[in-house]
Parts: sequence; structure tokens; C-alpha cells
Amino acid sequence: MSTARIHWASGPVVRARPEGAFQLREAVQVGARALLGEVTRIDRDEIVIQVYEDTTGLRPGDTVRGAGTPLAVRLGPALLGNVFDGLLRPLAAGAAAQLESGVRRRTPVEIEFAPGVKPGDVLEPGTPFGTARNGSGVAQACLLPPGTGGEIVSVAPAGRLSDEAPVCSVRGADGAVVEIAMSHDWPVRVPRPAAARLPSDEPLLTGQRILDSLFPVGLGGKAAIPGGFGTGKTVLLETLAKWCHADVIVYLGCGERGNEMAGLVEEFPQLADPRTNRPLMERTVIIANTSNMPVAAREASIYSAITVAEYFRDQGKHVALMADSTSRWAEALREVSGRLGELPGEGGFPPYLSSRLAEFYERAARVRTLAGDTGSVTILSAISPPAGDFSEPVTSHTKRYVRSYWALDTKRAQARFYPAIHPLQSYSENAPDFARWWEASGNARWLELRRRFLTLLDEQAKIERMARIIGKDALPPGQRLTLTCAELVNDAFLRQSAFSEVDRYAGPARQAAMMQVLARFVALAEAAGHAGVEPEAIERMEGFRRLQRMGEEIGEDGIERFAQLTAALEREFAGLAKPEEARHAP
Ligand code: ADP
Ligand code: MG
Repeated sequence: MSTARIHWASGPVVRARPEGAFQLREAVQVGARALLGEVTRIDRDEIVIQVYEDTTGLRPGDTVRGAGTPLAVRLGPALLGNVFDGLLRPLAAGAAAQLESGVRRRTPVEIEFAPGVKPGDVLEPGTPFGTARNGSGVAQACLLPPGTGGEIVSVAPAGRLSDEAPVCSVRGADGAVVEIAMSHDWPVRVPRPAAARLPSDEPLLTGQRILDSLFPVGLGGKAAIPGGFGTGKTVLLETLAKWCHADVIVYLGCGERGNEMAGLVEEFPQLADPRTNRPLMERTVIIANTSNMPVAAREASIYSAITVAEYFRDQGKHVALMADSTSRWAEALREVSGRLGELPGEGGFPPYLSSRLAEFYERAARVRTLAGDTGSVTILSAISPPAGDFSEPVTSHTKRYVRSYWALDTKRAQARFYPAIHPLQSYSENAPDFARWWEASGNARWLELRRRFLTLLDEQAKIERMARIIGKDALPPGQRLTLTCAELVNDAFLRQSAFSEVDRYAGPARQAAMMQVLARFVALAEAAGHAGVEPEAIERMEGFRRLQRMGEEIGEDGIERFAQLTAALEREFAGLAKPEEARHAP
């Protein structure tokens, strides 16, 4: 393998004189401590290396050794249930101290293997050759790596084996025999291939009403969550990790404070999957690269995370990748670029910020896998714009690549209105694609009701602007009624406590029922308004108060009670109209 000699070092960036050939993106070992690095630029008589570990102590003259292969992460059955650093080296769960920097080496893990093929079988690349069960007993498919296929020469009998030991050998088309282990390496910056990209016409359910019913994200879609400090990005991502209908969760803590990440690393292993009651960690991979860990590893961590997500997608799983936060990733990119002496662009970020973001989001997809299954990777990423300014480069470039945009609002968060997603600043561009799914799931009028709610909220904002000038009491009754209805939609539907036993999760049936009863209320209230009933009389109705409390009072197991609530509302409105009719009667 080639070597090079260091002549310049600045933070995570090292320049060296090559003695032999290096490849772009080649993994290297730097200095006596064999720090992990990657070749990021090759000039005529110099290579530039990004080092993923603390470079303190490196000196001119130290040696760089090329690995001959690109920087890669090890994918396999040992991932689920564990916590890793930005380059997928294990951190022991619960050991917050391990979130400190330091050189880590991966050690093989014993895994229960069961063969699914026999010698003589012919397999296509990316298809399963066996099953692996890790410590918690969860079965995972062992797939041939993409690019490797052919006739099975030998396969190991069932038993506990090292995840890195060969368990199967395959003779390829060229006659060469390749040994395959349960785990294999994959270059992080290269997307894993799939047979086809599929359209996304099904939402990734989150259990959050404002998301599923107003701003859905598709399976294989991408959503950005911009929000100022303390607006609830982390709480929202954690809530989504607990409740969203994904088979596998990849949670990337990227550049956030170590204590927050340590909290997550301690909390997650104790949580039960609310829908199956199995430990949530069984289907979760946590990747932690906190603010105190090497900055270059943070830059690499989003590629590690998306590669892990694709690996599970290839097994026919629906994977949700939570990234908290992509701003910290972009800051790492900026810092490394600065050390390289590159010309800065907008906000000091390198000019390639936008294309790097595009490459990352492009890897979210719903696909037909090489093995013929359907799998998906959905990206849900937090953005922390400095001073909450959404016009800054990371937010504005991200907007070009995501189709769902969930803007957290400082005012809502200050009013403790959670989730603090602003209904007028957020959007879901492909919501119409999910109308058929909602129709099949008990809400045939979903698109119409969704539009009704959004219009109501938009009218509310306009009327409130007017009210600030002329005073609320001076508004005509029709506008006061619109405010009453819009506030009800906010309080009874959009507001949802992450900490309420009953309401923290709303399944599609309950969301549909709540949407329908609220829409019925709005229609009845408007009819009553036209008939001369004052908005204040409507606010005093028993049914109005029951609607305000329905999220807390009617849980997932009480869906039929929404029909009773609707019937009671109709009776109460009928009674309300009578005295008015009497007054107008001759
Ligand atoms: P960010 O990550 O945007 O800086 P956090 O997610 O850490 O913000 O939220 C800050 C605080 O706001 C939390 O500690 C919690 O007290 C409160 N909070 C955020 N979201 C919710 C929620 N959905 N329900 C209740 N409280 C919340
Ligand atoms: Mg946070």
C-alpha cells in the first residue's frame, strides 16, 4: 500500500507528500496512532486528508498509510440495538463517557446464523443467503453484497458465528470464488443500488395529527424541521422515533450537545416500542457524533447514517432516518473547508453546500430492492438556523430538496403550544398523492377537509391582523365565528402533548374521526351563524367544550364515541337554532 509523509496539519486537515499512488476517497491511517482519515483531494505532489479523530500530537514527517479501498463502514446484523460513533464504531450503550473522543476499533460480534441456501444454488447480487439473529433475537436477512452473485460453493451450518467470519462462498461469473460474511463493508459516500425507484403514494404515519393530516411525508420522502433554539426539534424527532410506523429507526445525533445525546442514549434502551411492547432499541440504531467529538467525523456521520438506513431498506424494511441536526453537519463542512483554505460562499459555507445537501436527500427513496422486496428510507432532518432566521443558507438550500417542511415557530413554543409547527409556514407538496391512501383508511374527504382546515387557519391569521388594528370586538360576527372555529382546530386538533398518555399518539382512524367531527362542527356553526346565532353562544355550548377536550378524553380504543359526539353536537345545534327561529317568526 502507498504511503505519504505529512508536511502540514491544521485541526482535522492534513497535507502530505505521497510516495506512491492514492485514490480520491481512499481510507488512510494517519501517524503512529493510525488515526482514521480519508483522501479528499489529490494534487500533483500533495494529497489532502480529512482526519476523523483527534489530531493532537501529529507532526510533520509522520506517515500516512493508504488502505487501497475507499472509506467504508461495516454493515451487518450487529447494528440493530446499538450505539455508534460517526464512522460506525461501537460506543457502549449507556456509557456517556464514551462520547468523548478517542480511537476506537471495531471488534467482531457473535451472531446466530441460519443458512437459507445450499451449495449449487445460484443467487443474484443483493439477495438473501441466510438469517442472522442478534442478542435480542430479532431476525434479519443476510444479503449478498450488491455486485456479488453466482453459484453457492459452500455455506456454514446453523450456529453462533463471528459476524466477520466467512459463512458462505460464492463463485462469480468470472469463476473467482468470493467469501461472504454476515457483515460487509460499504463505501459511505456511494448510494447502495436498488432495482428501481418507486413513487411514494403512502404516508409514513407519525401519530402526530398536524403532520399526518395536514403535512404528511411519504414513505421514502424527506421532511425538514427548521426551528430556533428550544422550539422542540429534538423532542419532535424523539417523539417520531418512538411512534412513527417505520420498521427500523436510524437516529443520528449530529453535533448537538453531548449531554442531550447522553440522555437519549440512556433513555432509548429503557423504552418499549409502544405498538409492539418490545424494546424500542431492538429496531433502532443510534449514531452519535456530539459537539465534543472530532468535527470531520461529524461531516461523515450523515453518510454513515444514510448508508445504514439503505442497508435495512435493502432487506425490505421501511426505515426512518432522524438527523439532529443538519445545521451542525453543515458547520462541520464549513470548518473543514475553511481549514482547506477554500473560498467561502454564502454564510461562509463552501459553494458545494447545496450539492452535498442534494446528494444526501437524494438517497431518501422508496425502492424495489435487488432482492425484489419493497423498502424505503425516509429522511426527517432538523435544521437549527442561527437566530431562527429561515432565510439562511442551510434552510434555504434544504427547501429545494425536501417536499415536506415543518417549520417550528418560536411564538408557539413560547406559548407552550406543542408541537410548535406553524400551520401557515409549513407545507407538504405532495399531499394530494396520499388522498387515496386516506380514502382507504376511513377518510374519503381527507383532501377536502385538509383544505378546509388550512383555509380556516389562513383566514384566522388575516382576521387577527385586522383585529389588532380595530379591536376584536369591532369585528363582524362572521369573522368572530371564524376565529372561534380556527382556535378550536388549533386547540383540539393541532395541539398534541408528547407527554400525554392518551394523546401522544393518534392513529389514522382517530385522526380521521377527529377531523370529521371538527369539520361537522364548523359547518354547523357557520349555518347557525348565518341564522343569527352569536359566536359567543356557540363558544358556550357543551359540545364546543367536549370538542376542546376530545384529544384527552377519547383515546385510540374509543373511536366509536366520536359518532356519539357528532350526534350530540347536531342535537345541541338544532336546539340552539330554535330560539332564533322563534324570534324571527311572524
Ligand atoms: P430544540 O431541539 O429545538 O432546541 P427541544 O426539543 O430540546 O428544542 O425542546 C426544548 C424544550 O421545549 C423541551 O425541553 C420541552 O420542555 C419543551 N418541549 C418541546 N417540545 C415539546 C412537546 N412536544 N411537548 C411538551 N414540551 C415540549
Ligand atoms: Mg435540540
